[in-house]
Amino acid sequence: MKLAELPPLSLYVHIPWCLKKCPYCDFNSHEKRGELPEAQYVDALTADLEASLPNVYGRRVHTIFIGGGTPSLFAPSSIERLLVAIRTRLPVDPDAEITLEANPGTFEVDRFRGFRDAGVNRLSLGVQSFDDAKLAAVGRVHGADEARRALDSALALFPSVNADLMYALPGQALEQALGDVKEAIARGVPHVSAYHLTLEPDTHFYRFPPQLPDDDLAADMQEGIERLLGEAGYGHYETSAFGKPGHRARHNLNYWSFGDYLGIGAGAHGKISFRDRIVREVRERKPQGYLRAALAGDAIRERREVDAAELPFEFMLNALRLIEGFPVALFTQRTGLALNVVEPQLRAAEGSGLIERDHARIRPTAKGQRYLNDLLEGFLDPRAARAGARVINIASPGTARPS
Ligand code: SF4
Repeated sequence: MKLAELPPLSLYVHIPWCLKKCPYCDFNSHEKRGELPEAQYVDALTADLEASLPNVYGRRVHTIFIGGGTPSLFAPSSIERLLVAIRTRLPVDPDAEITLEANPGTFEVDRFRGFRDAGVNRLSLGVQSFDDAKLAAVGRVHGADEARRALDSALALFPSVNADLMYALPGQALEQALGDVKEAIARGVPHVSAYHLTLEPDTHFYRFPPQLPDDDLAADMQEGIERLLGEAGYGHYETSAFGKPGHRARHNLNYWSFGDYLGIGAGAHGKISFRDRIVREVRERKPQGYLRAALAGDAIRERREVDAAELPFEFMLNALRLIEGFPVALFTQRTGLALNVVEPQLRAAEGSGLIERDHARIRPTAKGQRYLNDLLEGFLDPRAARAGARVINIASPGTARPS
């Protein structure tokens, strides 16, 4: 493979602690016990970034996403120190989108102004629902009124705000799921991420499954949510993402366009392109182990060059999440491969009514969006397919799930 140009670069920073582990969550998040080692963790992130600089030398960062975990558990002064450390080591676009994930507890809301003053310009808030009983059913530590206060406060302070909502919650009726979306719209949030609650392996809900709405009801919820948001002027641009004009998540769009991202922090994933190869990295997962390893300049636990045979699937895994699909030329720009290497798969997907294409774009049809896993499986490397691999997780790292 040979890339004519390198893709845009984003930076993902993982902060791995939460007040309490939610029963549906398979993220690398750990219950906070006692004081968080904030200062030491920022030092570790800085050391991790420094050790990574040779891989991104001379490249500019377009977006920063501080995710978790619950990054709003960190003091604004720690977030400011982190952002200063980043800006002094890497060129960051003056108008870079800088997102911080936050939970709606009172403790966190008191810090919102400080986060904004530190340079955060987009807050992603884990609302999930405006219904106390449903929040309790999914083990959230906040209530509906806290979610309302947090959202109003975020909207008053930040130029852009996302509200994470979940639907198909235990015992949820159609009207309840739609009620959550109506309230988010009424409060004026410019971006909504609406996630179908799924039971992921290695979670409490997987071991002790709650009674969830059946597939037909969940599909009705999804359809109703898309209709309500569409009528209210939100563009549906990715499986779960809806934004008013000018509020699409640039960081996530870079993942979905198969852009590059440096991932620092416990368990963070990264994808970095070079002219002749694409490399994936994973950091030490356990917070204490990460602190030690990163401070010693040795946080990476896995680094591998992506085989050219895997690139078509990896590209499609991201780009076909986009409702508008992707420009034909992007495939070659990002993978260094000619589009004709996937011509048989494209033809098969087109024949099954899963994609449509013209000379300019390739996009999933409504059927392709609904059966995204089936569509993606067509692009699996045949060796992986023969070994029985299935598409089990269509989320991009660190973005496409409720937090
Ligand atoms: S869902 Fe979010 S708040 Fe809950 S444990 Fe996972 S990362 Fe933490």
